[in-house]
Amino acid sequence: MSENRVALITGAGRGIGATIARTLAAEKTDIAIVDYSDESAAAETLAALKEAGVTARYYRCDVSDFAATKAVVDQIVKDFGKIDILVNNAGITADKLIMRMEEADWDRVLSINLKGCFNMIKHVTPYMMRKRYGRIVSISSVVGLMGNAGQANYAASKAGIVGLTKTVAKEFGARNITANAVAPGFIKTAMTDALTEEQKQAMYKLIPLGALGETQDIANAVKFLVSDDARYITGVVLKVDGGMYI
Ligand code: NAP
Repeated sequence: MSENRVALITGAGRGIGATIARTLAAEKTDIAIVDYSDESAAAETLAALKEAGVTARYYRCDVSDFAATKAVVDQIVKDFGKIDILVNNAGITADKLIMRMEEADWDRVLSINLKGCFNMIKHVTPYMMRKRYGRIVSISSVVGLMGNAGQANYAASKAGIVGLTKTVAKEFGARNITANAVAPGFIKTAMTDALTEEQKQAMYKLIPLGALGETQDIANAVKFLVSDDARYITGVVLKVDGGMYI
Protein backbone atom coordinates (compact mmCIF):
# COMPACT_ATOMS: atom_id res chain seq x y z
CA MET A 1 0.00 0.00 0.00
CA SER A 2 1.41 3.36 -1.05
CA GLU A 3 1.94 5.89 1.76
CA ASN A 4 1.54 8.72 -0.71
CA ARG A 5 -1.89 9.54 -2.02
CA VAL A 6 -2.61 7.76 -5.32
CA ALA A 7 -4.15 9.52 -8.32
CA LEU A 8 -5.60 7.82 -11.37
CA ILE A 9 -5.49 10.33 -14.23
CA THR A 10 -6.95 9.53 -17.64
CA GLY A 11 -5.34 10.99 -20.74
CA ALA A 12 -2.24 11.98 -18.77
CA GLY A 13 0.34 10.97 -21.37
CA ARG A 14 0.35 14.44 -22.89
CA GLY A 15 -1.35 17.85 -22.87
CA ILE A 16 -3.32 19.08 -19.87
CA GLY A 17 -3.37 15.63 -18.25
CA ALA A 18 0.43 15.39 -18.27
CA THR A 19 0.71 18.77 -16.49
CA ILE A 20 -1.88 17.64 -13.93
CA ALA A 21 0.18 14.47 -13.34
CA ARG A 22 3.43 16.42 -12.88
CA THR A 23 1.73 18.92 -10.56
CA LEU A 24 0.21 16.24 -8.31
CA ALA A 25 3.51 14.33 -8.33
CA ALA A 26 5.20 17.44 -6.95
CA GLU A 27 2.77 17.09 -4.04
CA LYS A 28 4.03 13.55 -3.40
CA THR A 29 1.15 11.80 -5.12
CA ASP A 30 1.75 8.49 -6.88
CA ILE A 31 0.33 8.46 -10.38
CA ALA A 32 -1.48 5.86 -12.48
CA ILE A 33 -1.79 7.10 -16.06
CA VAL A 34 -4.66 5.57 -18.06
CA ASP A 35 -4.22 6.35 -21.73
CA TYR A 36 -5.14 5.13 -25.17
CA SER A 37 -1.85 5.00 -27.10
CA ASP A 38 1.16 2.80 -26.64
CA GLU A 39 3.18 3.56 -23.48
CA SER A 40 6.01 5.10 -25.54
CA ALA A 41 3.76 8.14 -26.20
CA ALA A 42 3.91 8.92 -22.47
CA ALA A 43 7.64 8.24 -22.02
CA GLU A 44 8.56 11.86 -21.32
CA THR A 45 5.77 12.27 -18.77
CA LEU A 46 6.63 8.99 -17.03
CA ALA A 47 10.30 9.99 -16.81
CA ALA A 48 9.38 13.36 -15.26
CA LEU A 49 7.12 11.68 -12.70
CA LYS A 50 9.82 9.23 -11.69
CA GLU A 51 12.29 12.10 -11.41
CA ALA A 52 9.86 13.75 -8.99
CA GLY A 53 10.37 10.73 -6.76
CA VAL A 54 6.92 9.17 -6.96
CA THR A 55 5.73 5.83 -8.27
CA ALA A 56 4.25 6.21 -11.75
CA ARG A 57 2.79 3.48 -13.92
CA TYR A 58 1.17 3.44 -17.31
CA TYR A 59 -2.01 1.50 -18.15
CA ARG A 60 -3.20 1.26 -21.71
CA CYS A 61 -6.99 1.38 -21.84
CA ASP A 62 -9.82 2.91 -23.84
CA VAL A 63 -11.91 4.80 -21.27
CA SER A 64 -15.07 4.21 -23.32
CA ASP A 65 -14.79 0.42 -22.82
CA PHE A 66 -16.78 -0.50 -19.68
CA ALA A 67 -15.21 -3.94 -19.12
CA ALA A 68 -11.66 -2.73 -19.86
CA THR A 69 -11.98 0.18 -17.42
CA LYS A 70 -13.14 -2.22 -14.67
CA ALA A 71 -10.12 -4.45 -15.29
CA VAL A 72 -7.70 -1.50 -15.28
CA VAL A 73 -9.11 0.01 -12.07
CA ASP A 74 -8.87 -3.38 -10.31
CA GLN A 75 -5.27 -3.72 -11.53
CA ILE A 76 -4.33 -0.23 -10.30
CA VAL A 77 -5.73 -1.02 -6.85
CA LYS A 78 -3.72 -4.25 -6.87
CA ASP A 79 -0.55 -2.37 -7.81
CA PHE A 80 -0.94 0.71 -5.57
CA GLY A 81 -3.27 -0.56 -2.82
CA LYS A 82 -5.83 2.24 -3.25
CA ILE A 83 -7.08 5.13 -5.37
CA ASP A 84 -7.54 8.42 -3.52
CA ILE A 85 -7.96 10.75 -6.49
CA LEU A 86 -9.62 10.27 -9.87
CA VAL A 87 -9.07 12.87 -12.57
CA ASN A 88 -11.23 12.30 -15.65
CA ASN A 89 -9.25 14.22 -18.25
CA ALA A 90 -9.26 12.07 -21.42
CA GLY A 91 -11.23 13.74 -24.18
CA ILE A 92 -11.45 14.15 -27.92
CA THR A 93 -13.13 16.42 -30.46
CA ALA A 94 -14.73 15.60 -33.81
CA ASP A 95 -15.99 19.01 -34.85
CA LYS A 96 -18.63 19.46 -37.55
CA LEU A 97 -21.83 21.42 -37.95
CA ILE A 98 -24.85 19.24 -37.12
CA MET A 99 -25.77 19.39 -40.80
CA ARG A 100 -22.62 17.36 -41.56
CA MET A 101 -22.18 15.46 -38.30
CA GLU A 102 -22.48 11.69 -38.67
CA GLU A 103 -23.95 9.38 -36.06
CA ALA A 104 -20.45 7.92 -35.55
CA ASP A 105 -19.02 11.41 -34.74
CA TRP A 106 -21.67 11.84 -32.06
CA ASP A 107 -21.26 8.35 -30.58
CA ARG A 108 -17.45 8.43 -30.45
CA VAL A 109 -17.21 11.78 -28.69
CA LEU A 110 -19.99 11.00 -26.21
CA SER A 111 -18.61 7.56 -25.40
CA ILE A 112 -15.05 8.76 -24.72
CA ASN A 113 -15.78 12.16 -23.13
CA LEU A 114 -18.89 11.33 -21.09
CA LYS A 115 -19.33 7.56 -20.80
CA GLY A 116 -15.58 7.38 -20.12
CA CYS A 117 -16.14 9.50 -16.97
CA PHE A 118 -19.08 7.32 -15.91
CA ASN A 119 -17.02 4.15 -16.41
CA MET A 120 -14.16 5.38 -14.26
CA ILE A 121 -16.44 6.77 -11.54
CA LYS A 122 -18.49 3.54 -11.49
CA HIS A 123 -15.42 1.36 -10.98
CA VAL A 124 -13.35 3.64 -8.71
CA THR A 125 -16.06 4.68 -6.22
CA PRO A 126 -16.51 1.22 -4.59
CA TYR A 127 -12.83 1.39 -3.55
CA MET A 128 -13.17 5.02 -2.39
CA MET A 129 -16.31 4.17 -0.40
CA ARG A 130 -14.48 1.47 1.51
CA LYS A 131 -11.82 4.02 2.50
CA ARG A 132 -14.44 6.71 3.14
CA TYR A 133 -12.27 9.08 1.15
CA GLY A 134 -12.20 10.20 -2.44
CA ARG A 135 -11.53 13.24 -4.62
CA ILE A 136 -12.97 13.19 -8.13
CA VAL A 137 -12.30 15.96 -10.65
CA SER A 138 -13.60 15.78 -14.22
CA ILE A 139 -12.42 18.11 -16.97
CA SER A 140 -15.39 19.75 -18.65
CA SER A 141 -15.11 22.86 -20.87
CA VAL A 142 -16.64 26.33 -21.07
CA VAL A 143 -18.05 25.10 -24.37
CA GLY A 144 -20.27 22.77 -22.32
CA LEU A 145 -21.69 25.82 -20.53
CA MET A 146 -22.01 28.23 -23.46
CA GLY A 147 -22.38 25.99 -26.55
CA ASN A 148 -20.28 26.38 -29.69
CA ALA A 149 -21.25 26.10 -33.35
CA GLY A 150 -19.57 23.04 -34.85
CA GLN A 151 -19.19 21.23 -31.52
CA ALA A 152 -22.66 19.79 -30.73
CA ASN A 153 -21.20 16.43 -29.72
CA TYR A 154 -18.31 17.92 -27.71
CA ALA A 155 -20.46 20.59 -26.00
CA ALA A 156 -23.12 17.99 -25.08
CA SER A 157 -20.46 15.67 -23.64
CA LYS A 158 -18.93 18.48 -21.58
CA ALA A 159 -22.37 19.68 -20.36
CA GLY A 160 -23.09 16.05 -19.46
CA ILE A 161 -20.02 16.04 -17.22
CA VAL A 162 -21.58 18.90 -15.23
CA GLY A 163 -24.78 16.92 -14.53
CA LEU A 164 -22.78 13.79 -13.79
CA THR A 165 -20.50 15.66 -11.37
CA LYS A 166 -23.40 17.22 -9.44
CA THR A 167 -25.07 13.81 -9.14
CA VAL A 168 -21.88 12.09 -7.98
CA ALA A 169 -21.44 14.86 -5.38
CA LYS A 170 -24.94 14.11 -4.04
CA GLU A 171 -24.70 10.31 -4.14
CA PHE A 172 -21.26 9.99 -2.53
CA GLY A 173 -20.97 13.04 -0.25
CA ALA A 174 -21.90 11.05 2.86
CA ARG A 175 -18.87 8.82 2.21
CA ASN A 176 -16.46 11.79 2.18
CA ILE A 177 -16.07 11.63 -1.59
CA THR A 178 -16.14 15.01 -3.33
CA ALA A 179 -16.82 15.47 -7.05
CA ASN A 180 -16.05 18.66 -8.90
CA ALA A 181 -15.52 19.76 -12.49
CA VAL A 182 -13.01 22.15 -14.02
CA ALA A 183 -14.13 23.98 -17.14
CA PRO A 184 -11.13 25.27 -19.12
CA GLY A 185 -11.46 28.00 -21.69
CA PHE A 186 -8.88 28.22 -24.50
CA ILE A 187 -5.68 26.60 -23.26
CA LYS A 188 -2.29 26.73 -24.98
CA THR A 189 -1.83 23.18 -26.31
CA ALA A 190 -0.79 21.61 -29.60
CA MET A 191 -4.37 22.19 -30.75
CA THR A 192 -4.34 25.96 -30.15
CA ASP A 193 -0.68 26.32 -31.30
CA ALA A 194 -1.89 25.32 -34.75
CA LEU A 195 -4.18 28.37 -35.01
CA THR A 196 -3.16 31.30 -37.20
CA GLU A 197 -2.18 34.63 -35.61
CA GLU A 198 -5.45 36.08 -36.95
CA GLN A 199 -7.50 33.35 -35.29
CA LYS A 200 -5.61 33.88 -32.04
CA GLN A 201 -6.25 37.65 -32.13
CA ALA A 202 -9.98 36.95 -32.61
CA MET A 203 -9.87 34.65 -29.56
CA TYR A 204 -8.13 37.20 -27.37
CA LYS A 205 -11.01 39.62 -27.97
CA LEU A 206 -13.36 37.11 -26.29
CA ILE A 207 -11.17 36.79 -23.20
CA PRO A 208 -11.18 39.64 -20.65
CA LEU A 209 -7.72 38.61 -19.40
CA GLY A 210 -6.53 38.90 -23.01
CA ALA A 211 -4.48 35.69 -23.34
CA LEU A 212 -4.78 31.94 -23.69
CA GLY A 213 -4.49 29.88 -20.52
CA GLU A 214 -1.60 27.51 -19.80
CA THR A 215 -1.98 23.81 -18.96
CA GLN A 216 -0.54 24.77 -15.56
CA ASP A 217 -3.60 26.97 -14.89
CA ILE A 218 -5.82 23.89 -15.18
CA ALA A 219 -3.45 21.73 -13.12
CA ASN A 220 -3.44 24.38 -10.36
CA ALA A 221 -7.23 24.24 -10.18
CA VAL A 222 -7.16 20.43 -9.97
CA LYS A 223 -4.45 20.56 -7.31
CA PHE A 224 -6.65 22.84 -5.22
CA LEU A 225 -9.80 20.75 -5.65
CA VAL A 226 -8.06 17.56 -4.50
CA SER A 227 -6.31 19.30 -1.57
CA ASP A 228 -7.47 19.47 2.05
CA ASP A 229 -8.11 23.18 1.49
CA ALA A 230 -11.06 22.14 -0.71
CA ARG A 231 -12.47 19.53 1.68
CA TYR A 232 -15.82 21.36 1.96
CA ILE A 233 -16.21 21.98 -1.78
CA THR A 234 -18.26 19.53 -3.84
CA GLY A 235 -20.50 19.72 -6.90
CA VAL A 236 -18.92 22.89 -8.29
CA VAL A 237 -17.84 23.72 -11.82
CA LEU A 238 -14.70 25.84 -11.59
CA LYS A 239 -14.22 27.87 -14.77
CA VAL A 240 -10.59 28.52 -15.63
CA ASP A 241 -11.06 30.63 -18.71
CA GLY A 242 -9.67 34.14 -18.22
CA GLY A 243 -13.27 35.35 -17.94
CA MET A 244 -14.27 34.10 -21.38
CA TYR A 245 -17.67 32.96 -20.10
CA ILE A 246 -19.10 35.15 -17.34
P1 NAP B 1 -4.95 16.17 -25.79
O1 NAP B 1 -3.61 16.84 -25.78
O2 NAP B 1 -5.57 15.79 -27.08
O3 NAP B 1 -4.87 14.90 -24.83
C1 NAP B 1 -5.97 14.07 -24.67
C2 NAP B 1 -5.54 12.83 -23.91
O4 NAP B 1 -6.67 11.93 -23.83
C3 NAP B 1 -4.42 12.07 -24.64
O5 NAP B 1 -3.48 11.62 -23.69
C4 NAP B 1 -5.18 10.92 -25.27
O6 NAP B 1 -4.43 9.74 -25.40
C5 NAP B 1 -6.26 10.66 -24.25
N1 NAP B 1 -7.35 9.88 -24.82
C6 NAP B 1 -8.05 10.14 -25.96
N2 NAP B 1 -8.96 9.18 -26.19
C7 NAP B 1 -8.84 8.28 -25.17
C8 NAP B 1 -9.49 7.07 -24.86
N3 NAP B 1 -10.48 6.58 -25.62
N4 NAP B 1 -9.10 6.39 -23.75
C9 NAP B 1 -8.08 6.86 -22.96
N5 NAP B 1 -7.45 8.01 -23.22
C10 NAP B 1 -7.80 8.71 -24.31
O7 NAP B 1 -6.06 17.08 -25.05
P2 NAP B 1 -5.91 18.31 -24.02
O8 NAP B 1 -5.98 19.55 -24.80
O9 NAP B 1 -4.78 18.07 -23.09
O10 NAP B 1 -7.30 18.16 -23.25
C11 NAP B 1 -7.45 17.44 -22.04
C12 NAP B 1 -8.89 17.61 -21.56
O11 NAP B 1 -9.19 18.99 -21.40
C13 NAP B 1 -9.92 17.07 -22.56
O12 NAP B 1 -10.99 16.47 -21.84
C14 NAP B 1 -10.39 18.32 -23.27
O13 NAP B 1 -11.67 18.17 -23.80
C15 NAP B 1 -10.34 19.32 -22.14
N6 NAP B 1 -10.26 20.71 -22.60
C16 NAP B 1 -9.19 21.16 -23.33
C17 NAP B 1 -9.15 22.49 -23.73
C18 NAP B 1 -7.98 23.04 -24.52
O14 NAP B 1 -7.99 24.24 -24.85
N7 NAP B 1 -6.96 22.25 -24.82
C19 NAP B 1 -10.21 23.34 -23.43
C20 NAP B 1 -11.29 22.85 -22.70
C21 NAP B 1 -11.30 21.54 -22.28
P3 NAP B 1 -3.49 9.45 -26.68
O15 NAP B 1 -2.35 10.37 -26.59
O16 NAP B 1 -3.12 8.03 -26.40
O17 NAP B 1 -4.36 9.66 -27.87
